[in-house]
Amino acid sequence: MKVVIVGNSAAGIAAAENLRSLEPLAEITVLSQENHPSYSRCLIAEIVAGAVFDSIRYRPDSFFEERNINLIRGVRVHSVNHASSTVSFGEEKEASYDKLLVATGSRPVRLGVAGEELDGVFVLRSYDQAELISRCAAAANDAVVIGGGLVGLKAAYALRRRGLPVTVLVKSSHLLTRQLDALSAAMVEKELREAGISFIYGQNPVGFKCGADPKALGFVVLEDGREIPAGLALVAKGVSPNAELVREAGGEISSGIKVNAFMETSLPNVYAAGDCIEVTDCVTGRQTPSALWTLAVEQGRYAAINMAGRQKAYPDPLTRLNAAQFGRLPFVSVGAMEEGEEFLTWQKEGRVYQKLAIREDRLVGFIMVGLIEQAGVFTSLIKSKRPLGNLRGDFLQGKVSAANLI
Ligand SMILES: Cc1cc2nc3c(=O)[nH]c(=O)nc-3n(C[C@H](O)[C@H](O)[C@H](O)COP(=O)(O)OP(=O)(O)OC[C@H]3O[C@@H](n4cnc5c(N)ncnc54)[C@H](O)[C@@H]3O)c2cc1C
Repeated sequence: MKVVIVGNSAAGIAAAENLRSLEPLAEITVLSQENHPSYSRCLIAEIVAGAVFDSIRYRPDSFFEERNINLIRGVRVHSVNHASSTVSFGEEKEASYDKLLVATGSRPVRLGVAGEELDGVFVLRSYDQAELISRCAAAANDAVVIGGGLVGLKAAYALRRRGLPVTVLVKSSHLLTRQLDALSAAMVEKELREAGISFIYGQNPVGFKCGADPKALGFVVLEDGREIPAGLALVAKGVSPNAELVREAGGEISSGIKVNAFMETSLPNVYAAGDCIEVTDCVTGRQTPSALWTLAVEQGRYAAINMAGRQKAYPDPLTRLNAAQFGRLPFVSVGAMEEGEEFLTWQKEGRVYQKLAIREDRLVGFIMVGLIEQAGVFTSLIKSKRPLGNLRGDFLQGKVSAANLI
């Protein structure tokens, strides 16, 4: 069997690794646009903060050779021809497949405003971009980050660690609206302000303007007309799935590539996994792009199992599952926090906050700030959909542990 995998990251690597253990004789080729050894994308903000590539490596260089996997780096796949079961890549090259996995991930959304092409305006998705930001940070006097989501805040914190004055522009009423409520977001904001980061709420940029050098960023222009001096700006306003290869080949797309429970797209023998696909959230039942490293790994594994012909259905995942730490403040946010649910909250000394969302006696979501030890237990409760019963009272006193859930 000949298998081609497009993308050398969480989903692609998990698929290649699992496929090799299932199919010792398969011919596996991984085509990767990036020309670097594999690295952990979740850690690229560390490069912005000054870390070196080796500290974010994901697999050793020997990984592919030891498994007899043919990795071709630095080539873009241009198209999929499912009638001839081939992909075209690089400079007029072609590879044929019996099974193809599209694991192309996603890319940052651009604002589409004037001046976005100026030197000094960045997005953060790849090691190369992180490197460029790091180099610009060494020379810049000030930075503006656009977006109060997790990627924006990780980048802002990294730039601040480089010693730059950093301002974050947040359009919504509080930070991390996908992860936190207003109270927990205020705790995170306080920690970031203490680290020296400033915030401007209710504003998006309407443009970027040059300073003395006509090619380089000098100011970020806000909706209210203010011009914020900046030698570096980073746009972090979410991502969009890289679904083109499947769409242009005639495959079904909605907010991402559509796959069935066996990770098959609507094209014959073409599978997809990771940030490029759409999934159904197991708590809300809603279709949503898959946008987590852990999910990409899991989906890569399921794609491998199914490409190897051992039918195994991928269960609907928990798509909202985030953990981060700024300064001394860790937080975890999992599942749904929606209107109509019952909320239980518990706070301690302004440093600890826990909130549970309960629907029909089942835990459907939680936020933990400051004290996160029980996050794993709570997450498994959401996944198992187990009725809470007497456990409900114990929760908020911190008495729930793995032991009393057995
Ligand atoms: C700064 C940052 C912080 C993050 N933090 C977290 C976190 O804390 N927790 C979490 O769960 N997730 C986090 N994420 C998200 C996580 O990185 C992604 O969910 C994960 O990388 C998805 O993996 P993937 O394999 O689907 O795609 P990707 O990692 O995006 O990899 C896709 C690869 O395919 C390549 N490719 C695309 N098109 C082509 C083509 N046509 N030809 C050849 N190659 C192609 C791309 O260049 C890329 O190398 C973070 C992301 C960023 C940017």
